Amino acid sequence: MKEELLKKNEEIYWIPDWAGNRWFKSWLSTLKDWCLSRQRFWGIPLSIWICDNEECKDITVIGSAMELKRISGQCPEDLHRPWIDKVTWKCKKCNKGTKKRIPDISDVWLDSGSVVWAAQETYDGESHYDSWVPADFIIEGKDQIRGWFNSLLSSAMLSSDRKNYHACYMHGWVLREKQKMSKSKGGAINPEDIINGSIEELQKKKSYSQIKGVETFRFYSIGATQPGRDFNFSVKEYADTFKILNTIWNVYVYANEKFQLANFDPSKTTYDLNKLNKLDKWMLSRINSTIKKITELADAYELPWITGELRDFILNDVSRWFIMLNREKLDIYSDDPDKEQIMALLFEVLYKFLLLLTPVNPMLAEEIYQKMFKNNISSLGLKETKSIHLQDWPEYDEKLIDAELEEKMTFTRDLIEEVRALKDENRIRLRWPNKKIFIEPKENMPDLEFAELIKQMGNIKELEIKKNVEPSENLLKKETKYANVYLDVSVDDNIIAERVVNDLIRNIQYSRKKNKYNVGEEISLEIGTKTDYLKKFIEKQENEISEKVTATKFTAIQKELSQENDKGFGILHICPNKQCSASLKDNIYSKLKKKKKDVKCPYCESQLSEEAIKSISFLFSKVK
Ligand SMILES: [Zn+2]
Ligand SMILES: [Zn+2]
Repeated sequence: MKEELLKKNEEIYWIPDWAGNRWFKSWLSTLKDWCLSRQRFWGIPLSIWICDNEECKDITVIGSAMELKRISGQCPEDLHRPWIDKVTWKCKKCNKGTKKRIPDISDVWLDSGSVVWAAQETYDGESHYDSWVPADFIIEGKDQIRGWFNSLLSSAMLSSDRKNYHACYMHGWVLREKQKMSKSKGGAINPEDIINGSIEELQKKKSYSQIKGVETFRFYSIGATQPGRDFNFSVKEYADTFKILNTIWNVYVYANEKFQLANFDPSKTTYDLNKLNKLDKWMLSRINSTIKKITELADAYELPWITGELRDFILNDVSRWFIMLNREKLDIYSDDPDKEQIMALLFEVLYKFLLLLTPVNPMLAEEIYQKMFKNNISSLGLKETKSIHLQDWPEYDEKLIDAELEEKMTFTRDLIEEVRALKDENRIRLRWPNKKIFIEPKENMPDLEFAELIKQMGNIKELEIKKNVEPSENLLKKETKYANVYLDVSVDDNIIAERVVNDLIRNIQYSRKKNKYNVGEEISLEIGTKTDYLKKFIEKQENEISEKVTATKFTAIQKELSQENDKGFGILHICPNKQCSASLKDNIYSKLKKKKKDVKCPYCESQLSEEAIKSISFLFSKVK
């Protein structure tokens, strides 16, 4: 049979391919006879009876319980040992001896190799002998090359001369710190401990205490290992995967809350393709290209890469990008004309993503479906089903995939990342504006479709594309794939004023929250500073401050304010170097109060003293 088996093996789709064209091929090439009996008690008794007359030794092989009854006149309810061994009959050939069952049972691999027949509804052993249907896909560990993979194919080939599985996924073993898990040596992990969150290492860390259930393990184990390779369980990687699941959950909770607060009814709202802006079109392209990619991966059984695609999409594209950029528009107080349209788009995108997630996280996806989509599913042109698992796999629309636009967005995000890194490395808070960036194109730089986004996300006033940028002390440089970025870190009064005011606004907002003021609740605000230029900065941006902190009354006074009963109060300590004017953290100021020497501003590194420190204080209360 060797040649036949080797030929059929070539038709099987192996994942990884070397499991088939090296391992299984090598096993089949040296195939020996298979002794399919075992001398044990537990197992499937071989249905072979032999006449005990030494001169006769006639053999009967029984094919079914019915046949046994017909020939022997009896058939036990339970066909296992010891009952089956009691079935004997007088040999009809010699009329002297007795037919007795041989004591052997079958090798377990014969059972598991017979799964195609066991799965059939009719099993008379004759008329449906060859009507079995091959499995599309089987999956087992690497020890099954000589076990199940072999017994399945051999049984089918021997009986029917065809193969009984089309695709075979071989996985490795589960290891711990690259060692085999062992109960005696420790290091073994019980599935129950994963589900209950009672793995020892998890309990040691407080931030890990929430990690339980089986969905994190599902996502983790599918993505952790390439096909055929051993899976090295790491508590840290497992715990990190929980963050992904948590983000997925939070994205849906966030969206659902915004939909409900806005009384958003998906059946009454659609989006008009022609009215979508570039960011929306990008989102639509991303969901379609993600469906396409994951469908291709799933069709090719490239399972471990699927979770990576899922993670990138929901974390980077939806949570940290599309939702983040639309946060204000989605807010309950927003009356943005595009609000409904964005919600309709988000609703559809989130539903399609959920379908992609379903095979990996069947429970999580079902929970979200029941809570958020089931009752509204008809608005997406779909039939309501009891479960998400009864819905069809999503289809993608090639026309909506715009690879060029996606590339432009990736480039934009690279640029923003580099600008933010430059700010961070040079101790410029993100909320402090910078004057300008220069983009110096390299070859094949895509159009800067999203220049406004770069300015907004990097908090930059101006952006210029310029060839051959002259290096200077004030220009900090970073490289990306398509361009160099230069951040201008020079400052003037306008930039410094914004810096001070942005820090002040953040402090007031924080104080509002701490004092339990509701969003939108109007306040009366007093701001005091003894420093002339700081007062000018504040007065110049009175409107900006008032709007951001919802102050309907605003006064700026040239003196220090002090705490009053029933009023919100705060004080900012400001670096006296006017070119810096950073608000200093409390720990810096308390060092100064303790008369510590050699305290430096962490932003401009100038020497500080308590006397020189400038300050801005504020008081606010509800408008009566
Ligand atoms: Zn006989
Ligand atoms: Zn400073």
